[in-house]
Amino acid sequence: MHVVTLIKGDGIGPSIMDEAVKVINATGVKIEWEEAYAGMSAFEKFGTPLPEETMASFDKTRVAFKGPLTTVVGSGFRSINVALRQQYDLYANVRPAKSWAGIKTRYEDVDIVIVRENTEGLYVGLEHYLSPKKDIAESLAVVTRTASERIVEYAFQYARDNNRKKVTVCHKANILKFSQGLFLDVAREVAARYPDIAFDEKIVDAACMHMVMKPEQFDVVVTTNMFGDILSDLTAGLVGGLGLIPGANIGADAALFEAVHGSAPDIAGKNLANPIAVIMAGAMMLNHLGEAEAAEKVVKAVEKVVNEGIYVTPDLNPDSKYGTIEMGNAIAAAVE
Ligand code: NAD
Repeated sequence: MHVVTLIKGDGIGPSIMDEAVKVINATGVKIEWEEAYAGMSAFEKFGTPLPEETMASFDKTRVAFKGPLTTVVGSGFRSINVALRQQYDLYANVRPAKSWAGIKTRYEDVDIVIVRENTEGLYVGLEHYLSPKKDIAESLAVVTRTASERIVEYAFQYARDNNRKKVTVCHKANILKFSQGLFLDVAREVAARYPDIAFDEKIVDAACMHMVMKPEQFDVVVTTNMFGDILSDLTAGLVGGLGLIPGANIGADAALFEAVHGSAPDIAGKNLANPIAVIMAGAMMLNHLGEAEAAEKVVKAVEKVVNEGIYVTPDLNPDSKYGTIEMGNAIAAAVE
């Protein structure tokens, strides 16, 4: 029996997470879901967006399955997602984007995994104004050898474990010679320890152009925090949009699985939200729990329903009469 902290989240969160839990339970893997709250729903219930009860549950289970959270304005927290990543040192953000046979896009064979450094870079939150008039602002990027080495190691090890052939480091060391230069130097050092995996380096702006012109030349991509954030939305666009992309946040002794998208308040409560991203995040979680066979079953069931194109949400087929619940039911029924 596995114990998992379940945070359903805000907006579309509860509806898509209910479907994801339904699909995971259909694999037969025994999971005790320990429900906890974060974000707006926690703020309303407990007066804080990150209650101690939630941290206590994650402290114990070390595995969390989380729906999107609405950022609570003026609560004193920059972002609960950032707070959780920092608190548990969830340093590797893994965001896979893969073409689906049943989803028509400009490309057919995209299969790119973005491995994003999740704890430092420009997202450390070191920002201030340099003048009383607030007309000069400064944001600091922090890059350390330790964090760079562990994320690049993670990317190469991921490539090896998942039968991937190449790791591309995306950087801006030509301009940011110190911070990005350090990241690139470390990437080269780590690459030398993995002679079985091809290594490539690309300046991030050129990488964007190459990704939209010839996405097939990318396999695993490793990069610093903000570039990873941007590049993963780009790869999401290549395969059909944010509603499809899962994300894993992995640390040495804790992991959190979620969708890349947000709480989509514009479609909340309308049975319109696509549950694929959180269901695929659930498959990543099953792999993390050592339940590879069940993870495979989930992926196959999603592929079947998406490729049939009947019980899908309107973002995938504008003529569809079906929504979140019908799609979740169809995927759960397709789990064999
Ligand atoms: P969003 O990702 O919620 O929505 C962007 C657009 O994509 C919207 O039009 C929405 O309807 C659509 N969309 C998103 N997910 C979808 C799905 N599963 N199916 C169909 N359509 C989908 O981004 P936003 O509107 O900028 O942010 C809303 C809130 O979510 C904000 O408070 C933001 O801070 C938060 N957010 C949270 C996370 C997280 O918890 N990991 C990530 C991003 C944004």
